[in-house]
Amino acid sequence: MKGYYGRQIASAIRAFIKQHPELATRYKQAKTVVRSFRQPAFYEMATRCNLSCEGCYYFDNNPDVTTNNPCSIEEWYKFFAHEAARGVTMAYFVGAEPALEQERLLAAAPHFPFGNIGTNGTVAIDPAVPYRIGVSIWAGDNASDKELRGATVFRRALKNYRGDPRAIMLFTVTRWTIDQIETVAKMCQDHGVQLTFNLYSPTHTFLDKLTQGAENDSSYFRVSSGRHTPTLDDEALIKAHRAMGSALDRYPDTVVYSHPFNDFICGPTPLYELDPDTGVALDCGSRILSPMRYFTTDLVSQSVKCCTAEVGCDQCRLYSGGWSSKFVPRATDVKDLVSFERWLDMIETLGRIFLYPREIHKIRHIHEKEQ
Ligand code: SF4
Ligand code: SF4
Repeated sequence: MKGYYGRQIASAIRAFIKQHPELATRYKQAKTVVRSFRQPAFYEMATRCNLSCEGCYYFDNNPDVTTNNPCSIEEWYKFFAHEAARGVTMAYFVGAEPALEQERLLAAAPHFPFGNIGTNGTVAIDPAVPYRIGVSIWAGDNASDKELRGATVFRRALKNYRGDPRAIMLFTVTRWTIDQIETVAKMCQDHGVQLTFNLYSPTHTFLDKLTQGAENDSSYFRVSSGRHTPTLDDEALIKAHRAMGSALDRYPDTVVYSHPFNDFICGPTPLYELDPDTGVALDCGSRILSPMRYFTTDLVSQSVKCCTAEVGCDQCRLYSGGWSSKFVPRATDVKDLVSFERWLDMIETLGRIFLYPREIHKIRHIHEKEQ
């Protein structure tokens, strides 16, 4: 919060807390959560993946991506040590599929207080890796999984992460899978693993193929055509909003989500203020803007708009952009007490989704050794 508006927002928060001192602890905890993300960085861990998801954000525009100059594991280790010395507090380990390069994850393990791995869940990540694992799932049954991702994924992911406190299933909801939300929540509950939601957000290339009536291929445009698409139209969005909210109410110990966030992420697009010249979101918290940095697998810093650069900001409903845009309260978040409490609810939920304290990991390891 900077400048005149920042001071006004801070003053509104002070007034709420003066009138309702019971909010002081919640606000203090919210600030601790936000501080954990004060210096984030993104690391691409792999240039290969064992799936082919419809409209993949990573390969869609660049199916033959390779690394010309692969680095040794010693170079990765030194690189992460240097990044930690630079002050990185939150390391995001992203595409293509980090679980296929686990030596690199292990090389990062000693260095960062918090980490977040985005994986498809088909390959179990070494128990020694002390970071949050966001497991992307796209369907609750094998047929939809095969249609959307070219393989059965969800059941393998459940087997790999049953009872693992590092893991949170991240259900990317499409128009075709809204009816599976309840089943997925129940199965996650039965397997002792948490669940949250993401909304399918198309890439530019995917949308171009749809509008141009492109032929289906055998990789990332296998099943969509014309109006037969996983993207969420208005009607589907209303259904998804209802189903995700209902899952939160019915499975409160499993589903880590927030009604205020549900209202925001299912709201009318664009969710963000767009640059009129470039169409890029100006106020999305996932933008890679200094001091935030993004590194590809050659360990070189790249200039990209965000970690899902192929997705159009005008139609983006990705959970990453949504949650990271909530760190700083805006004027609308403090316009009255209810709005402020809704912001606190979002920050508390954000902390539960993204943070896995290293202390929990240590205690868990000691406990497992004793058994
Ligand atoms: S798991 Fe991720 S990187 Fe792999 S194909 Fe699916 S969307 Fe692309
Ligand atoms: S997360 Fe979405 S809105 Fe934000 S910069 Fe990336 S594509 Fe744009």
